[in-house]
Amino acid sequence: MLNGEKKIARPLRWAMIGGGRLSQVGYKHRTGALRDNTAFQLVAGAFDIDPERGRDFGVNIGVKEDRCYSDYKTMFTEEKKREDGIEVVSIATPNGTHYEICKAALEADLHVICEKPLFFTSDEVLEIKKLAEEKGKIVGVTYGFSGNQMLLQMRAMIEKGDIGEIRMVELQYTHGFNATDEADKYSAAQKWRVDPKIAGSSFVLGDLSTHTYYMSQLIMPNMKISKLLCDRQSFIESRAPLEDNAYVLMHYENGAVGRLWTSSVNAGCMDGHRIRIVGSKASLEWWDSKPGELSYEIQGQPAQTLIRAMPYLDESCNADERLGALHVEGLSDSWANIYLKFAIAIDAKNRGDQEALDYLVYPDINAGLEGVRWIENCVRSADQGSTWVDFEYEQKTQL
Ligand code: NAD
Repeated sequence: MLNGEKKIARPLRWAMIGGGRLSQVGYKHRTGALRDNTAFQLVAGAFDIDPERGRDFGVNIGVKEDRCYSDYKTMFTEEKKREDGIEVVSIATPNGTHYEICKAALEADLHVICEKPLFFTSDEVLEIKKLAEEKGKIVGVTYGFSGNQMLLQMRAMIEKGDIGEIRMVELQYTHGFNATDEADKYSAAQKWRVDPKIAGSSFVLGDLSTHTYYMSQLIMPNMKISKLLCDRQSFIESRAPLEDNAYVLMHYENGAVGRLWTSSVNAGCMDGHRIRIVGSKASLEWWDSKPGELSYEIQGQPAQTLIRAMPYLDESCNADERLGALHVEGLSDSWANIYLKFAIAIDAKNRGDQEALDYLVYPDINAGLEGVRWIENCVRSADQGSTWVDFEYEQKTQL
């Protein structure tokens, strides 16, 4: 189980390129990287295509002003001069910039963590792979969903033969948020996604299904696709030649077959990210909306739901557990919200800003008082032979 203790000698000095104020994915990088402050320290950045907005944003998230750079090239040059210069950089910019920035980062002797889809062509990837090897650097790709530990449970069960020989692979990553062309007009993040010069040769195949394809490789490392057939469409015509929907049929080397559906025009669908692996004895299914659960259906037996953090799960799965049993995944976000409000309350108190304190909703001393009163009243009732008692609000002692 993970508890934030250090896994490496000291945190890595980390910078971001992109991921600024208006970016969709930047905060996910920071919450991922900085959650254990024993792994990464955000010390620099070129956060935005707009240098002023990038600097302002960087300062606002706690990066020193002189290390909020106007562009990544300046950042690489200036950071190289420092003894405490950056060691690793994350690239969270639109697709068409990944190759150029990644190459420059490696040439500046930095490790790289880059957004997906990595580059436009596999030739580019092979070139960068060679450069990274020459430089002795890591290039990681942020297939962010793939860190879910239940996928490692699927991998372990498949490896152990729990579902038998794999016969069918069902992959789906769809949503309906682009069922109309509205966002293509007003959202900067959607505009570039349907522009081949910036997005590359695909829209949803790259934007969505690269995640799911990687996750399928993670859970079935021995399954190699021998051939595939892809049928793609642009239901919003202005997106052509980039697709907003695609079906892919796959044949695997072991005789298994599969299909993947990816779409951003699956109207009404809020989260259609599913993986179902059908074997000769049983099936496993994982769904992003219930990431802590794994459906295990053995032919002829009642279906089982395997739950995160339980001792019956594989060691590899529980090694990545952070919360422990009973607690749901959203709990970390809830704690983060509460801690942020504690900080705002402390700051308001320090400044004597009573109006801000009155406005803030958070569990303060009164919430603590209520909890203690609740216990007192319950215990009083129980101790009186489990009888009805009036809920006492009066304080017995002065605060
Ligand atoms: P976005 O348009 O919302 O944000 C892009 C950010 O990059 C903005 O802050 C912009 O100012 C900045 N930027 C652009 N060019 C820059 C440059 N040359 N230097 C510095 N900053 C620059 O895009 P997004 O949705 O956040 O997507 C960014 C990347 O992340 C894309 O490759 C996308 O495919 C990927 N993405 C991945 C996930 C995931 O789950 N891993 C989720 C969303 C997006």
